[in-house]
Amino acid sequence: MSFQAPKGTFDWLPPRSERVLAVREALAAPLRTAGYGYIETPVFEDTQLFARGVGESTDIVTKEMYTFADKGGRSLTLRPEGTASVVRAVLQHNLHTGQLPVKLWYSGSQFRYERAQRGRYRHFWQVGAEALGSEDPALDAELIVLAARGFASLGLKNVTLLLNSLGDQNCRPAYRAALQEFLRGLDLDEETRARIEINPLRVLDDRRSEVQDQLADAPLVVDHLCAACKAYHEEVRGLLTACGVAFTDDPRLVRGLDYYTRTTFEFVHGGLGSQSAVGGGGRYDGLSEMLDGPPLPSVGWALGVDRTFLAMQAEGLADDEARQRVQVYGVPLGDDARRRMFLLVGELREAGLSADMAFGGKGLKGAMKGADRSGAAFALILGERDLAAEAVQVKDLATAEQSEVPLAQVVEFLKGKVQ
Ligand code: ATP
Ligand code: MG
Repeated sequence: MSFQAPKGTFDWLPPRSERVLAVREALAAPLRTAGYGYIETPVFEDTQLFARGVGESTDIVTKEMYTFADKGGRSLTLRPEGTASVVRAVLQHNLHTGQLPVKLWYSGSQFRYERAQRGRYRHFWQVGAEALGSEDPALDAELIVLAARGFASLGLKNVTLLLNSLGDQNCRPAYRAALQEFLRGLDLDEETRARIEINPLRVLDDRRSEVQDQLADAPLVVDHLCAACKAYHEEVRGLLTACGVAFTDDPRLVRGLDYYTRTTFEFVHGGLGSQSAVGGGGRYDGLSEMLDGPPLPSVGWALGVDRTFLAMQAEGLADDEARQRVQVYGVPLGDDARRRMFLLVGELREAGLSADMAFGGKGLKGAMKGADRSGAAFALILGERDLAAEAVQVKDLATAEQSEVPLAQVVEFLKGKVQ
């Protein structure tokens, strides 16, 4: 049997692959307008970075990491998310000793050993943004607005923003204790009972209906916020409203990662079934210290490119009609014509037109088929007789009209026609 892409992974092929590139660009574009700089970190890191920076009690660390020993005996892990790497890089290069906040964005592959299904893959792509070193509700609001703009710029209408606050080191412990007490009284399996003791907020995130059905009366973090957290959250909400960004308060929204504090949010799409989150993020004031850095209150998000693409499909924004690939297609007939066409196609490209030509010594019929498939507006037919006359036949593929143009003028001629 021939090789297949590994389970839970897939290939992006043209013309869809072009669209997914455009999605990545569109999600990142608003960040560039707001002073975020591009950061690229390695695809693998020290396993301990994720164990500590994502959290030992999370599904990601306990079940989903691609961990391996390299030939030097180091334990490395393919990155399951971007934030820990970004904080590591900021600390390593002392970016936090300059002006704050440090604003960074990234775009790249993530790897999680998940139960593969539609919208949940083992290799997927995120665009992410982080603003490090400032505690300011305007920064939380800025990031949320920028993500919302990215989705809107793709034409998506059915994206909803869910918003919550998880409190901070002052009020969270009392809430955590209240939640634990409530959860201990429920009928839960052993694994979930263990989770109550390590990361009780995660139990709220359990999707199983037998768990959800018991959570109706669970204490809510909003009822336990301290005055400072409450004021902070109100400020974020007020700024979003002022910008016209609609949101839904979701007092049960928690995040899978241990390091989140205060603002948390998720963007969900109505057309994706149970894999509905197209992005999420929040404030992670404690993460830097968990990685042996100084206190560095920060906020960030990661948007799922693959799911955003599925959301676009669900809204009919990603139909697969073949897109025009090139504007001009060369049809050389014979070896001398092929050599000349090769140069001409290069000249066209340098002049800013997109151009392709028939390869593999095809005859006129096969080459014209290639011209049709290429989506080009014009075919350039070059035979031995044209070469002798220093001219080329320019065929308008829409009207089938054909005219002879001197080779020395054809670049200018086509520039006038297709641009
Ligand atoms: P979920 O609750 O769906 O598992 P998550 O909380 O694990 O999501 P994050 O770690 O916050 O997700 O990642 C941010 C975004 O990345 C998600 O909102 C989603 O769009 C995307 N994403 C996460 N995991 C996957 C995956 N396995 N395949 C495709 N996209 C993913
Ligand atoms: Mg997940």
